[in-house]
Amino acid sequence: MYLPLKAVLFDFDGVLVHSPLDLAAIKRELFGDEKVYIIEGIEALDAGEREAKTALLTRRELEAAHDARLDPFVPDLFTWLENHGLARGVVTRNTREVVELISKNHSVDFGVVIAREDAPPKPDPACIFAACEIIGVEPWECVMVGDFNFDVIAGRSAGCRTVFLETEKFSHLDPGADERIKSLDELIDLLAEWIEIY
Ligand SMILES: [Mg+2]
Repeated sequence: MYLPLKAVLFDFDGVLVHSPLDLAAIKRELFGDEKVYIIEGIEALDAGEREAKTALLTRRELEAAHDARLDPFVPDLFTWLENHGLARGVVTRNTREVVELISKNHSVDFGVVIAREDAPPKPDPACIFAACEIIGVEPWECVMVGDFNFDVIAGRSAGCRTVFLETEKFSHLDPGADERIKSLDELIDLLAEWIEIY
């Protein structure tokens, strides 16, 4: 089932960047003990409450973004992608403002960015299709790399190859990705193997 590889799509938080963003704490702040995903929970509210909770979420995300650090393997990985003619992009449930802020603070070009305001967010594959369209590739020519179920579900639903990055927070998950890695530097070996086939 190997097909030519043209682009790598990344989840943002926990994969390319690490920040104090604590979604569990934000969820408690917004919804108490209610079992709900933040973005979907906010979407379901009436207009007034939606606006207030969106403002609080956005504030917490921006606070965390100021203290974000880049994963140490990102510069080498991005250079490797460039040297091998692979495009890159970010598909995130975070906001464009956060990605742009971190991009500026760390002088790094993440490539095409699809944030939650751009397309229905993961696990909906629509955000993956949007990224592919801008890059000019088909989903089956892409790898989606993420550290949460939603990343793998969205990637797989779109038809991408998927890589699950094990992190402390979510290593117990097994979303059925094609490959599992423990660190971003392992991705280079994996991609090298995949492009070698062609
Ligand atoms: Mg993540």
